Amino acid sequence: MHFSQLRRVAPDGANKKTSRVRVAVRLRPYMGKQDEKDEGPCVRGLDSQNLEIINWRNAMETVKYHFDVFHGEQTTQQEVFLSSVKPILPHILGGQNASVFAYGPTGAGKTHTMLGSSEQPGVIPRAVREVFNLVKAKDEEEGWDYSIGMSYLEIYNEKVLDLLSPGSQDLPIREDKDKNILIPGLTHTTISSFSDFDKHFIPASLNRTTASTKLNHRSSRSHAILLIKVVRTLHAFPYRQQTGKLYLVDLAGSEDNRRTGNKGIRLKESGAINLSLFTLSKVVDSLNSGTAIRVPYRDSKLTRLLQDSLGGSAHSVMITNIAPEYKYYFDTFSALNFAAKSKLIVNKPFTQETVAVPVLPVKRARENHEVGGSGT
Ligand code: ADP
Ligand code: MG
Repeated sequence: MHFSQLRRVAPDGANKKTSRVRVAVRLRPYMGKQDEKDEGPCVRGLDSQNLEIINWRNAMETVKYHFDVFHGEQTTQQEVFLSSVKPILPHILGGQNASVFAYGPTGAGKTHTMLGSSEQPGVIPRAVREVFNLVKAKDEEEGWDYSIGMSYLEIYNEKVLDLLSPGSQDLPIREDKDKNILIPGLTHTTISSFSDFDKHFIPASLNRTTASTKLNHRSSRSHAILLIKVVRTLHAFPYRQQTGKLYLVDLAGSEDNRRTGNKGIRLKESGAINLSLFTLSKVVDSLNSGTAIRVPYRDSKLTRLLQDSLGGSAHSVMITNIAPEYKYYFDTFSALNFAAKSKLIVNKPFTQETVAVPVLPVKRARENHEVGGSGT
């Protein structure tokens, strides 16, 4: 036996620092209503990493944003999964942690992205299927036994509630000596197949939706957190064990923090601020700026729970969902400012795309449905 086998097992590649949170932006299709005047979109994609939005300070300008990935309105559920989520899943089987979040204002497509529908399944069903496939494809000869389990919880008003055990009380969040975060008392169910997963997940999701309509749009103010845990154990002595966690999170609507009424941007000073969402944006900011003296994980329940799966050696992806209609303008602006790697004010009127402007070599936006959008 090698001495190294007696140490706490370091997950594969754990020494590699990969603490940045990858940021993808997904723009949903325009959904104009018949009875509203059709103003067209105020935001549009430029290419696979850039988009632009009208500058409200000056309509003759647009603000151009750069991200790790931009998914335009034609992007399918399959494409979002393949580019933003599938690549991180193999790490879970090797004992590493990961998290995928959907961020953005209510109505911009978070639930569509994470859950989807039976015709257009989202990230959650696709990721769970893929984890089962990956485990099935593992070679017996490697000597590991795999077991997959799930938990499903909600954070609402800084309370942690077990969605697999209706009527549960606020649960505590703890850290063990190895710095793993855990929730004693949270239901954790072993699942043996995708249909087994569905059997537990569907009723729990329905419970949440029904409760939400009674409780004043609770679903847009709470974070729904699905945990998929993969534990693998070596057949032979010393029976090494590794645990990999995958968090799939449909976040509360980001508009809660930033806007009251529809007349402008204003931070609510009351207790109505969603502390967890606000802290998450600080945590992502400090991880991505690389200048963090202290990452404020402990300031909220959500970030405390995700401490071992966000930053550090974990693989994290934030999918920021935005909507193209004008009524979302300020929410979109705040979501983009939170998500962007960089932004640039460009002196080019949004609606006059056919005018050739030498300073900005505007790439033809593939999915753009702007007026006069075929010039240059
Ligand atoms: P959120 O969860 O952020 O509040 P939803 O996912 O409920 O937003 O989306 C709002 C509406 O827009 C829903 O009717 C949803 O089906 C639709 N929608 C969102 N994203 C897309 C998309 N990419 N393609 C088609 N429809 C979408
Ligand atoms: Mg939703």
